[in-house]
Formats: sequence, C-alpha cells, structure tokens
Amino acid sequence: MFKKRLELIFISIILISITVLAYNYYKSYSFKNNDISDNYKKRILNKEQEVLQHMQREFGFTFKVPLIVTDKFKGKLYGLTSYKDGIIKIYLNKKVMQESMDYMIDSVIAHEYAHALMFKLGYLHTKDKGHSKRWQQVCIKLGGKDCQQYVDIKEIIMSKMPFQ
Ligand SMILES: [Zn+2]
Repeated sequence: MFKKRLELIFISIILISITVLAYNYYKSYSFKNNDISDNYKKRILNKEQEVLQHMQREFGFTFKVPLIVTDKFKGKLYGLTSYKDGIIKIYLNKKVMQESMDYMIDSVIAHEYAHALMFKLGYLHTKDKGHSKRWQQVCIKLGGKDCQQYVDIKEIIMSKMPFQ
C-alpha cells in the first residue's frame, strides 16, 4: 500500500516536470515562431499611450506612428525609424525583446518616437544620424529614460526598409 502511494508520488512529480519543461519549451518556441505575447503587446501599447500623452502636453498635438514588431532585423539593433515619402514608421526588433523588454519599454520606444517626431517637424538632416541636441530634448520630453547622444548606430532610414 505504502509502496504504491510512493510510486504514485513519483509519477506525479515526473508528470509535473514534463509539463513544466514542455511549457518552457513552448514559451520560447512560440516566441520565435509566432506573434509576440499579449503581455508584450500590452506593454508596448501602454508605453505608446504614455509617449503620446507626453507629446500632447509638451507639443500640443499627438502624432501616432505605426509601431511594427519584426524579426527581420540584422544584428542587435533594438529599433529603427524610417522616413520615406513623408511616411514615418517605427520598427522594433522582436529578436531582442525576450532579453531586453524592459529596455525596449523604458528607452527604445520614446527614443524612436523622438526620431519620428523630428521627421514630422521637418528635421530631415542625417548628418549627425539624427541624434542632435534637439532630438535629445524631444526624447526627454517624450519621457525617454535613455536619451543619450552618443548612439551612433544607424537606425534612421531615409529610404525603403532594408527588409521587406
Ligand atoms: Zn536613434
């Protein structure tokens, strides 16, 4: 009787372990192959709402830019802003989200929105790759946590996207 019970406990433990393993596997698998999780979507949308509120308060208008989450990025770029024929879009790198979601939310969205707003306001120069003093002020006004000017990676694209 006791032996049977012990056996049952072992089987239960094994079953639970398999379930946990399968769940973890599913989580990382679904992240690579499917859309981002509802939780991530919610966090991105909430942050965008926050940025737009800052914009309304600081600039007196809101200008919504399509936020496109994609895994087509090459390399470790977090996000980029594109401007083509007056159309502005922000791309966020899905590949780095799992490990850098907090940074994405706290810094990247406001950072890219600041580029988008600079485009919208007519500052199309790319001499300093967009990270001018004025850009920095916009970034801070939009609530960005990390509005450093030293960023020198090219994440402003003045033409068609390099992907799709
Ligand atoms: Zn930038």
